[in-house]
Amino acid sequence: MIKDNFTIKKIQEGLKCKDFSAVELAKKYLKVIEEKDKDIHAFLEVSENMALKQAQEVDEKIAKQEKLTLLAGVPCSVKDAIMVEGLKCTAGSKMLKNYKAVYSATSVKKIVEQGALILGKTNLDEFAMGSSTEHSAFGPTKNPWDLTRVPGGTSGGSVASVSAGENIFSLGSDTGGSIRQPASFCGVVGLKPTYGAVSRYGLIAHGSSLEQIGAIANNVEDCQTVFNTIKGKDEKDATSVALSFPTTNLPTGRQVAGRTTNYKIGIPREYFGEGLDEEVKESVLKAVKGLEEQGCQVKEVSLPHAVYALACYYIISTSEASANLARYDGVRYGHRAKSQKQKANSLLEDYIADRSEGFGSEVKRRIILGTFCLSSGYYDAYYQKAQKVRELIKQDFALAFEKVDLLITPTSPFCAFKLGEKLDDPLQMYLADIYTVSINLAGLPALSMPCGLNKEKLPIGLQIIGPHFTENKIFDLAKKTEITLEK
Ligand code: GLN
Repeated sequence: MIKDNFTIKKIQEGLKCKDFSAVELAKKYLKVIEEKDKDIHAFLEVSENMALKQAQEVDEKIAKQEKLTLLAGVPCSVKDAIMVEGLKCTAGSKMLKNYKAVYSATSVKKIVEQGALILGKTNLDEFAMGSSTEHSAFGPTKNPWDLTRVPGGTSGGSVASVSAGENIFSLGSDTGGSIRQPASFCGVVGLKPTYGAVSRYGLIAHGSSLEQIGAIANNVEDCQTVFNTIKGKDEKDATSVALSFPTTNLPTGRQVAGRTTNYKIGIPREYFGEGLDEEVKESVLKAVKGLEEQGCQVKEVSLPHAVYALACYYIISTSEASANLARYDGVRYGHRAKSQKQKANSLLEDYIADRSEGFGSEVKRRIILGTFCLSSGYYDAYYQKAQKVRELIKQDFALAFEKVDLLITPTSPFCAFKLGEKLDDPLQMYLADIYTVSINLAGLPALSMPCGLNKEKLPIGLQIIGPHFTENKIFDLAKKTEITLEK
């Protein structure tokens, strides 16, 4: 019998005791997808054959009594901006509607080597631009907690699939909050690793200096296991680093009976002010109080340049996006406009036709904004200025981390909003990222995890932020405040 509420550990135990086989597991979860995904629409493609083949291989290894690998038989999914060889990779865009990946991302290779079963590719906002998954060219994903609401974005499909029990974990990407904000909307755990901790090889680029592939799971331990699998230096990504992550979580000189019960936690004043929903604030502060009762020291800190983070992020990310998306011109990559009428007087007209048809409105908005920011005469005023502000934001964090070990903030100023509510108002949509983007600007690791439900029974998320490469500390603190939300 296969029980519900599975974790990676329970799956491993079940496989070891022969309670079920990996093939049975794959079939069970494929069935859940078949039943639930009609309503949720987390998946753009379900890869039944791939999952069953991978499951068979795991079962063969078990039959030969080989040692179980870290993710043996664990059903998962991959955001459709990350390549899985042989499966489509659309980036949620008409531009890449028929593109089939010819290689796998390094992070995908690593999870497959460890025995994970890939059930499919998950929905996202087009080219990972958005905060609700409504900008997908293939229709929105719904929040499993309330189908009239968004799951957040851009890794909305990944997060909704984990939240709905369609798989155990998912790989997402986070350029400005795209793992953490949807994780908070759907009541799951999501980590944006330190910049350079995980290879970006095989991730369709949006903002290259900002983004990381990260893990989404139902609990902190599973999130940590997946992160441990995908982290590390990759020769194919020059920005990945070979640092060893401190395995000890003990802040020196502050151990209590060998345990880290006394982290110094910073509460950044700027993240608890205007615009923050009262229930979100109360719930996050309640979790902080709980940690204080366990022996942590809590201290208010200031990140004075936080107010510029959103403006700074939208200049840098759109500038990078405008360069990264130049390759989709219908010649080198992407959609070819069908109508011959629009085409062919010149190469430029050709490009215009292909790009006008292939991209959706949010992507076009960003390409125009980014191109403007980088254009001669405006480069200094916008892009270069934003780079200077980025440095100040980084310094704010560095100064705060001289006083405290970790920071706690809300992940999002509000809970999941209604489908359509912010779709016509890009500025309102951008505000959903107000607490997440500065972490990407500074290249820091941060995790979102559930800390309660609001009156409407919607999940609330809190964010733990640490200095570079302190993922282990973040996981350690997260485990101390981990709760299970009752649906
Ligand atoms: N919502 C942010 C944006 O639209 C973040 C996106 C992301 O992290 N990919 O840019």
